[in-house]
Amino acid sequence: MRKWSGGFQTHDMRPDVGVQCPRKSRGCTWKGDFRQIPFHENECMYGDAALLKELCRRMDQWEVMMQTREKDISLLKYNLNEVREALTEKQMEIDALTIEMNKM
Ligand SMILES: [Zn+2]
Repeated sequence: MRKWSGGFQTHDMRPDVGVQCPRKSRGCTWKGDFRQIPFHENECMYGDAALLKELCRRMDQWEVMMQTREKDISLLKYNLNEVREALTEKQMEIDALTIEMNKM
């Protein structure tokens, strides 16, 4: 459909051509007016800024997960040492009782 302004067609009155996102190859399905491309690129989920943001978010998640794992490992090591000490104590008790029994 043609829109006329003062008898001649201006650029602003050009009908929408329905361009696709420049990141289409990355999977973006956005389609729109070519004039909206600069605005879309700022918010495109497949743009470099969005990818970088997502990567940073994942790195943060990994960091938190690693810290949790490290704490878990420290706690397990501590518990293991306690069990070892208890075991050594029991072994000493058994040794002492064995000596007593042999005296009987
Ligand atoms: Zn896009």
